[in-house]
Amino acid sequence: MKRYDILTLFPEIVLAPLRESIVGRAQEKGLLDIRVVNFREYAQDKHRIVDDLPFGGEPGMVLKPEPIFAAVRDCFREGPNARVILMSPAGQLFDQEMAKALAAEEHLIFICGRYKGVDERVREALVTDEISIGDYVLSGGEIPALVLIEALVRLIPGVLGDEDSARGDSFYEGILDHPHYTRPAVFEGMEVPPILISGHHGQIRRWRRKEALRRTQKRRPDLLREAALNEEDKALLKEIEREEN
Ligand code: SAH
Repeated sequence: MKRYDILTLFPEIVLAPLRESIVGRAQEKGLLDIRVVNFREYAQDKHRIVDDLPFGGEPGMVLKPEPIFAAVRDCFREGPNARVILMSPAGQLFDQEMAKALAAEEHLIFICGRYKGVDERVREALVTDEISIGDYVLSGGEIPALVLIEALVRLIPGVLGDEDSARGDSFYEGILDHPHYTRPAVFEGMEVPPILISGHHGQIRRWRRKEALRRTQKRRPDLLREAALNEEDKALLKEIEREEN
């Protein structure tokens, strides 16, 4: 069973999302054990103070090192090789490749920052990965940690009902997903592409691949340049080029 520890001052922010849906089910299935740790409990003084003024003087507060060091060391007792992930807008930008690599790990510790962030010595001595979910600043690392966990959990073998269902998702093979349709076949005059109700599995598969390529070509040509394309993909792209011009 994999183990994730989330170190936060606001456990309530993460608890409900962790109980629901796929992430909740992964825990029920015994594939994953997620613990939420309020590192305020590791503060040593009687007021349980976790933040302090920045040295050098500037507005805002900084998370003190002692409670975070103590909380992380406690997690290490259950797995000394855990990766320690600091959520930070100054970190490496999160993407599906990182999700795949982290999903293979057995024990992850997520540190959720607040205020101005954490004392730099936490980074220096404990953190193995500093990760950002995008070029914007949130008030805390809880939602970013949830973003990572949602992305990782669906890649853990056995979590998704149909083993293959992560495979067609956007980015899984380096390109975007194809469009999806469900019943009714005609809705307010808008028809489903006839191929999808033709019953020709070969043609349906080809149509899906083609539409995934078309969408990637239009919206994210940068992804297409990096993707591993086979001969059929190249032929489909030529067809798309002819159709679009
Ligand atoms: N002064 C910091 C931002 C602090 S925001 C800086 O500019 O780098 C408070 C906390 O929110 C951070 O410590 C981090 O844990 C979290 N956070 C904010 N934006 C984030 C982002 N884009 N990705 C990951 N974590 C983020």
